[in-house]
Amino acid sequence: VLLYAHLDVQPTGPVEQWTSPPFEATERDGRLYGRGAADDKAGVLMHLAVLRAFGGRPPVGVVLFLEGEEEIGSPTLPALLAEHREALRCDVIVIADSSNPAVDVPAFTTSLRGLVDLVVEVRTLERPATPASSAARADALTALCRLLATLHDEPGDVAVAGLRRSPSSAPEPDPAVFRADAGLLDGVELVGSGTVPERLWHAPALAVLGMDVPSTDEASNVLLPAARAKLSLRLAPARTSTRPRRR
Ligand SMILES: [Zn+2]
Repeated sequence: VLLYAHLDVQPTGPVEQWTSPPFEATERDGRLYGRGAADDKAGVLMHLAVLRAFGGRPPVGVVLFLEGEEEIGSPTLPALLAEHREALRCDVIVIADSSNPAVDVPAFTTSLRGLVDLVVEVRTLERPATPASSAARADALTALCRLLATLHDEPGDVAVAGLRRSPSSAPEPDPAVFRADAGLLDGVELVGSGTVPERLWHAPALAVLGMDVPSTDEASNVLLPAARAKLSLRLAPARTSTRPRRR
């Protein structure tokens, strides 16, 4: 059995928004808080706890594989798997990197989505231009915003041709628990259609992660010749990222 988890995690974000220091594992109300506690240090600890529960002598052969570049899309994982094929050989892979419907309600995840990050750049002008003639000139930032606005349909489902969803028979989570765990503000509606498990695990998802544009403080009265956005695309199970579509 190969036990997989990843030990790289997301940055802390604003430290002042933490209740306890992000780099000190802190127990509160029976739960452990710290940077990466939810993804995926918890997975690492779960594997270690299982090995400890067996006194370090599990009844089956175990390979422990902790990855360190999951958050950037595992660029060297294929080469590493090829190189260490024998050491990693196994009958079953247990991936401890998913979520539960609620605290104390275990979940068995049977499918995962694929991930593709991409950067889109729009160039429209040779140089910055004054906005006086904006009606006749395509400035890059407005063009990029219009382009990004076409990626989803009115209900909020991904509207990119060729991306499909697959059906899900997973049970619907308690809406109130789901909203609280997701940190959704009151009045914010879920985007997209279908059951929550379908949206989370079986439908493509496309999000804008960042844009290279002037901040509102620094923006001056010119039309931009170029603008870039970083997008994150989740592919439904059974889709493949080895043949990306070009448009
Ligand atoms: Zn993870």
